[in-house]
Amino acid sequence: MSHRALFLDRDGIFNELVYRDGAFHSPRNWGEVKHFHLESLKPFKDLGFKLILVTNQPDIERGIISHGFVEELNAFYFKNFELDAAYVCPFSSNEHPLKKPNPGMFLLAKKEMDLDLSKSFLVGDTDKDVIAARNCGVTSIVWERDYNKNLKSDFRVTSIKEIEKILRNGSID
Ligand SMILES: [Mg+2]
Repeated sequence: MSHRALFLDRDGIFNELVYRDGAFHSPRNWGEVKHFHLESLKPFKDLGFKLILVTNQPDIERGIISHGFVEELNAFYFKNFELDAAYVCPFSSNEHPLKKPNPGMFLLAKKEMDLDLSKSFLVGDTDKDVIAARNCGVTSIVWERDYNKNLKSDFRVTSIKEIEKILRNGSID
């Protein structure tokens, strides 16, 4: 039987974005990492969901962030939140099939982990996440931040508890 997945974006969900030169960026080193306070993801594991990180890291290809640091930070979340897999797109071209809003990372995970995408969810903070999910039939959940007030998605949340309600009941109410 195929598994259900909860796909999780990294920057803006697990850690804050770094505001630099008029735009938001991924942290480049540990000194720039500010973790959000995120409760345990264990309820989702208990519901049978695979927890899968899906993160665009185009600054790797641009030579601005080291692959090693991205892997270190991912490994930290992997361990602390008992994730099942992490997919990283290091490429900067918007045409690359792995780079969100293209659904390549989701499709790769589907193949490698035997997932039912129609019963899977994504938690993200930007339009790239929402569109990538929509492009492969995954239900989108936006975590509300100051910068995504106008972003349309299937659900909007501000807590792990709300996500749990959606995954259990199909609604926040
Ligand atoms: Mg993000």
